[in-house]
Amino acid sequence: MGQVELMNISKSYDKQKNVLNEINLSIEEGEFFVLVGPSGSGKSTLLRMIAGLEDITAGTLKISDQVVNHLPPKDRNLSMVFQNYALYPHLTVEQNILFGLRAKKVQKEEQQLRLTETAAMLGLSSLLKRKPKELSGGQRQRVALARSIVSHSPLCLMDEPLSNLDAKLRANMRVEIRRLQKKLGLTMVYVTHDQVEAMTMGDRIMVLNDGKIQQVGKPITLYNEPANVFVASFIGSPK
Ligand code: ADP
Ligand code: MG
Repeated sequence: MGQVELMNISKSYDKQKNVLNEINLSIEEGEFFVLVGPSGSGKSTLLRMIAGLEDITAGTLKISDQVVNHLPPKDRNLSMVFQNYALYPHLTVEQNILFGLRAKKVQKEEQQLRLTETAAMLGLSSLLKRKPKELSGGQRQRVALARSIVSHSPLCLMDEPLSNLDAKLRANMRVEIRRLQKKLGLTMVYVTHDQVEAMTMGDRIMVLNDGKIQQVGKPITLYNEPANVFVASFIGSPK
């Protein structure tokens, strides 16, 4: 029994073709789980279904043992970080970080406590009054992470959160995200098309191609025992 369970999940947008085909998957509590695959393989669709932002065409989705197929996103007790950060340009860093807590009716005092703690954790304490346009790419990314962390949701979904950053910053942020995930004991579902990111960050990795699971396993297993030629060439293993 995992924290997130997908049972025979399929998805089609137009009834013509399945973009996801009978996905069966169980993600454990506290696990850093990476979805990796080429562009168009269905990663974002899968993540958005877990988040409740996309209808499920067929199959059953469970979060914490509860069937959530028709549960609205706000009731799923999860947070999501998007590729483009999706910060509100007219709000300050502080307001951006606290935005979700307002909607959840978290008390003012508790909001301030969490803000202080989260900002310190991510090195944002001196930037709280700035607007997103006054921040660097890396700082904006930290604000997006802070907004997710501050929710205290046990399940965190990230869709290519580092793809807009330069290589050095990306390497730093990988370490940062793993550190936070461990420290907070989060269950993470992390989407990337970057093999290096997948191999260095994932406790387990699922390789997706054309809406079908190619292999699920530990990085070392995928490297040493790729299930097929696609996995071998995608992961870059010697076989
Ligand atoms: P990835 O995130 O791996 O790049 P996506 O989940 O975004 O893949 O897309 C998977 C497939 O579904 C692609 O063929 C894409 O064109 C299609 N698709 C994604 N979103 C929509 C949509 N809203 N309407 C129709 N087709 C879509
Ligand atoms: Mg995508």
